[in-house]
Amino acid sequence: MDISVDPKQIAVCAHCGGKIRPDVVWFGEMLDETVIDEAFRWAEEAQVFLVVGTSALVHPAASLPLVAKRNGATLVEINPEETPLTPIADFHIGMKSGDCMPRLAALIGETRRGRKVELK
Ligand SMILES: [Zn+2]
Repeated sequence: MDISVDPKQIAVCAHCGGKIRPDVVWFGEMLDETVIDEAFRWAEEAQVFLVVGTSALVHPAASLPLVAKRNGATLVEINPEETPLTPIADFHIGMKSGDCMPRLAALIGETRRGRKVELK
């Protein structure tokens, strides 16, 4: 399923004129500096870093996996397409995120319950 949003169709708040949205940043908007700073700190500490369903092209977010990798994280890219990140990823799972993430969550759940699982 492809979802696209026409920026002109986004509803505007009658009180302040701000865009009505879920807790997301629309393309072309600035990221909250405190949020991105926190993301970089988490990236530095990560042992495993998942890059899910992104072109890995738009900075500063595209720098996060590079920071994680440089600090020793195992980099896992989940994307049906190859990206500029693919050559340095430790694992590339060529699936759509909506197909992969539920399976990955189930596998992690099985592992945490002490069951041996096989990736197929
Ligand atoms: Zn408002």
